[in-house]
Amino acid sequence: MTTINNQLAAMNKTHLWHPFTQMKDYNESDPLIIERGEGIMLIDVNGRAYYDGFSSVWLNVHGHNVPELNQAITEQLGRVAHSTLLGIANVPAIELAEKLIHIAPQGLNKVFYSDSGATGVEIAIKMAFQYWHNRGMKEKTAFITMNQAYHGDTIGAVSVGSIPLYQEVFRPMLFPSHVIPYPYAYRHEGGAAAAKEAAISALRHLLETRAHEIAALILEPIVQGASGIIVMPPGCLREMAALCRKHDVLLIADEVATGFGRTGAMFACDHEDVTPDVMVIGKGLTGGYLPVAATLTTDEVYNAFYASHEEQKTFFHGHSFTGNPLGCAVALANLKLFEERNIVEGVKAKAAFTRHKLAMLQERPHVGDIRQQGLMIGIELVRDKETREPYNWTDRIGYHVCQRARELGMLTRPLGDVVVFMPPLVSSEEELEAMIDILTKSIIDIT
Ligand code: PLP
Repeated sequence: MTTINNQLAAMNKTHLWHPFTQMKDYNESDPLIIERGEGIMLIDVNGRAYYDGFSSVWLNVHGHNVPELNQAITEQLGRVAHSTLLGIANVPAIELAEKLIHIAPQGLNKVFYSDSGATGVEIAIKMAFQYWHNRGMKEKTAFITMNQAYHGDTIGAVSVGSIPLYQEVFRPMLFPSHVIPYPYAYRHEGGAAAAKEAAISALRHLLETRAHEIAALILEPIVQGASGIIVMPPGCLREMAALCRKHDVLLIADEVATGFGRTGAMFACDHEDVTPDVMVIGKGLTGGYLPVAATLTTDEVYNAFYASHEEQKTFFHGHSFTGNPLGCAVALANLKLFEERNIVEGVKAKAAFTRHKLAMLQERPHVGDIRQQGLMIGIELVRDKETREPYNWTDRIGYHVCQRARELGMLTRPLGDVVVFMPPLVSSEEELEAMIDILTKSIIDIT
């Protein structure tokens, strides 16, 4: 067994190039190799079990190796694993589209599939761009994004993102976007109200002066994820949506991270009764099982593409695996479990329990801010709590806390100095408590 594991470890280092990873660091470390999953645990090749404290990068809903989800895939496998959506349909893709329209904010009536959050975003921005083009308003080509936004890693998605670290090298390949402030209350002198006002007034100014050249505003509704789990002050999303509507600029809600119950509502937009013009979903769409994403839109957007072939208004976009039947079948089974197990209501109760348990951490000398929306939690660590002075980036404080958590039996990944806690939505109170204990001990040990 050990020999096989050693071989695997050697092959991993020799042949694999891991995403978002400095391979030199990785190859000098002790890489973890997962063999299987059981409930909310991931088990490595040596048989050691770890809590999946970040839902395998924010997507797991019902845990791993779920009989109902496994069965949905197996049954579909007995019919057909893949068939294209280019001019042909398949049963699960149709059924899933109908289901998604039913649960999405009212007014979103069309579903365009893809296979990752980034491709879903890519579709959203191309759709918004061509929407205005097809309507003869060809000058509306620019996008507005929010400071430190993350929308994925394809060139278009990076162009409408605004995390400098991910953009710098590629700058010559990117198209420029307008960037407005994101309301980061903890790091804004005036707190939440002033942070919100700064964001809203920047958007208002931009729209009043340049709406004629702007196609869409793209944002992560209610919670900005990769920037450090930063929760918007109440009312912000609704006001931004109203401004976009007033100035005839589309609103693209990127719900890749926030969708499917994660924030305590099926979609984050539901918290403020907002229907965006375009909504991107991924991650939890299949319960975190298979790579399926989708871009939803309104009849109004769809109708701008609906014309005779000669008018050349077709949306020329698609991927080989668009609408994959296995993925759609497991997504349908996932949504069935959402209903049967009342997952969204469960998240609300679990979020309250978690908030209560995490409150103790607030007393720790290096815990600056604990941000939480549903089961999306970020703990910002600071060198000096009084002045909110951040750690030096070379301290890699978040990284070290997460490494300690792994030693203690829980997996998660930091976002700079922010320790992320995003347990699978089905985690029980006992499991949440055990994970919070590990998190607490890791923070105490390292800071
Ligand atoms: N959009 C948001 C808000 C995300 O958080 C992510 C990934 O974390 C993406 C898009 C990209 O999704 P994917 O990694 O599936 O391409």
